[in-house]
Amino acid sequence: MGRITRFSREPADLAGARRLAGQAALPGMVNAHSHAFHRVLRGRAEQRPRPDRDTAMPWREVHDQALQRLTAEDVFDSARMAFLEMLLGGITCVAEFHYLHHQPDGSPAADPNRYSREILRAAHDVGVRIALLKVAYARGDFGGDAASAPPRARTSSTDQFVRECEQLRTFVESEYPADEAWLGVAAHSLGAVPLPIFREIGGYAHSRRLRLHAHVSASAAENAACVAEYGRTPIALLAEHGLIDKRFTAVGAIHLAEDEIKLMGAARASVCVCPVSERSHGFGTAPVEELLAAGAGIALGTDRQVQGGLLENARLLEYELRSRVPTRPGGTDPAAAWWHAATVAGARSLGATTGALEVGRPADFFTVNLFDPALAGAAPENLLAAIVLGLERRAIREVWVGARPIITGGRHAFQGPIVGRFADLQKRLWGPAGP
Ligand SMILES: [Zn+2]
Repeated sequence: MGRITRFSREPADLAGARRLAGQAALPGMVNAHSHAFHRVLRGRAEQRPRPDRDTAMPWREVHDQALQRLTAEDVFDSARMAFLEMLLGGITCVAEFHYLHHQPDGSPAADPNRYSREILRAAHDVGVRIALLKVAYARGDFGGDAASAPPRARTSSTDQFVRECEQLRTFVESEYPADEAWLGVAAHSLGAVPLPIFREIGGYAHSRRLRLHAHVSASAAENAACVAEYGRTPIALLAEHGLIDKRFTAVGAIHLAEDEIKLMGAARASVCVCPVSERSHGFGTAPVEELLAAGAGIALGTDRQVQGGLLENARLLEYELRSRVPTRPGGTDPAAAWWHAATVAGARSLGATTGALEVGRPADFFTVNLFDPALAGAAPENLLAAIVLGLERRAIREVWVGARPIITGGRHAFQGPIVGRFADLQKRLWGPAGP
């Protein structure tokens, strides 16, 4: 259901067609890395990093406060808000890197997948496809013990984690169509998941043919700590243990050595870059062109929801690369390259069937108003470049997922209540009457 059966100019088909006058349709975009609940943090810790502190520090303090407060209902409301914003921006499929597993005080919920189910419910309610990546988080950082992991995210044992994944997989498969919601797994990072546990989780993902994602090499300090513990940088270490393959996505991957780029390419693995989020922490940018040249896929993600769009990420990435001239290899069509990242490569990273308008694939697409001031006058040959580099969200008129209209006339049917409940949540969380 909801798949593209044919493209047609036959008079009988045209007679029954719904015309989208003055609009162009494009495949729905795929957000390959999201932490939905981070939407509650937007605008609350935006300070320039100080050289004498962890660059993510002011943000992390607010993050930890939210982590101690959000109820299951709050997780649902914040996820609906994040997913609604994504849909309004033309995103029809998201990978949710979900690490909020326990109750606010850190004690286990009666159903260990309670919070995962809230995320799934939010995605279903709003109408976005989702790869739910259940995240293992076994310690705070390199060298730490189990007690150093954030209590709400803590993985008590690998066996327990795998058991919960299996329960969740069964639940997802029984409750949702296979292309609407599916399970993947993630190791938060090598700092948060020691190698033996990472290997077991990777083995589980491999046995079930599930996607495996992990934050990797966000900073030089992370690489140094990994070398200190294991004698190798993260990608080299994971490759040595057979954990890098076509179902693996490294999120970030900013500090890669040349041989690591080759390893990622040879394995046809994916890298998900989140330039807005990464740059907002003062981090650099992954060697994306070198990775593409080596054969790796490049996907895009919104990560911590500083803003909710993928094209903003594509633009930041492209202009960062231009600032590196003349070291940048020539010949790339940037609009085509980053559009591919926002669609086909994202779908590949998630194992989604979306990302292209082709017979047999889901009818997931969005339309843009060609007479919007941001796009007016674009010719067919430069329309994609105008969209990738110049589209304003206002120009997005309709978003369809599985041949169902989810956004019509630039609005979601439940937009009022979703935004209203989120605004109430923010008042409760951060207002004077809050905790
Ligand atoms: Zn992330």
